[in-house]
Amino acid sequence: MANFTHRVYNFNAGPAMLPTEVMEIAQNEFLNYRGSGMSVMEMSHRETHFQSILDEATDNLRQLLELPKNYEVVFFPGGATLQFSAIPFNYLKQGESADFSLTGVWSNKAFEEAKKFYPRVREVFNGKESNFMEIPEITDQMISDDAKYLYITSNNTIYGTRYQSFPKIKKAPLIADMTSELLSRKLAVEDFSVIFAGAQKNIGPSGLTIVIFNKEKLPEVNHPIPNLMNYTLMAKNKSLYNTPPTYSIYIAGLVFQYLKKLGGISKMEEINERKAKKLYDTIDSSSFFYAPVPKNNRSTMNVVFRSKDANLDTKFLKLAGEQGFAGLKGYRDMGGFRASIYNAMPEEGVDALISFIKEFEKSHV
Ligand SMILES: *Cc1c(COP(=O)(O)O)cnc(C)c1O
Repeated sequence: MANFTHRVYNFNAGPAMLPTEVMEIAQNEFLNYRGSGMSVMEMSHRETHFQSILDEATDNLRQLLELPKNYEVVFFPGGATLQFSAIPFNYLKQGESADFSLTGVWSNKAFEEAKKFYPRVREVFNGKESNFMEIPEITDQMISDDAKYLYITSNNTIYGTRYQSFPKIKKAPLIADMTSELLSRKLAVEDFSVIFAGAQKNIGPSGLTIVIFNKEKLPEVNHPIPNLMNYTLMAKNKSLYNTPPTYSIYIAGLVFQYLKKLGGISKMEEINERKAKKLYDTIDSSSFFYAPVPKNNRSTMNVVFRSKDANLDTKFLKLAGEQGFAGLKGYRDMGGFRASIYNAMPEEGVDALISFIKEFEKSHV
């Protein structure tokens, strides 16, 4: 890797870049947080400084998402993957079933994990035949009579697809893994029973996961749930059942403040749509690069593209790397390229990438 003295445009899918402004605040407060004489990393999670960090982060997230009162916000340790186990434990009694829409690696993993403990879970859609380029339109007719919920991955980080609009079903509550897009687009939270997101794509450092759930729709189950996966217990203790990932919560809190200052999620969405549109437009109008995802299913967060000559791919990535565009390699089994343009990617970064793509095509094809 080249040795940079400045920050590069980081297109990694996750952990991903965070707003420079946020990183600078963290840097300034690193050794002595607001006169406490210590770093947030060194603080007791039971003292007032951290308590206000947690309260403020929770309040700001509630405001950003306009969360109704009956929704809880819990900061969980562990990755998004822990929720693949936690959700069935909290929402299914032994022998019960749920429907899963399989739109890629992450929903498959969630499905396989649920199946270990609840063998009756069922796939309501499987995108395998379209190489996961397809996003289904799920209707009530497709939902099993005994499904306790429908599980979806709202944005498929690896394939660069997303649900342009979410399933509108009445038969079962909706549960969504929004790891790679929470806070990037407007959302009707009331349409979901649970929304969760690992922080490292769009919110903060890895190892922190945000879970938002409708407490009125949390069922009583008749089996024990491991404490750190227990939604009732974690919510009752306001994310402080044990020592939470304190520093990660602090950074997430700074990101929420940053988003509020920017103008909230509508503003962020507007910027994200503009960024994604110009990048897709560039790729669509190229005679060398192309985007494999059908227009209606395209993610605004993860832009997947390929070239018509795979022999030049290594060269593209090498040159990009030298010029300060990091993390453009496609997912390991997918090949090609992926530009993850989460909230923190400035529009200038997308503009610079567009120029680089055009320049590369001009001089190499
Ligand atoms: C990255 C990702 C995950 C996995 O997150 P971990 O924190 O590594 O467990 C799950 N779901 C989606 C949609 C992701 O993008």
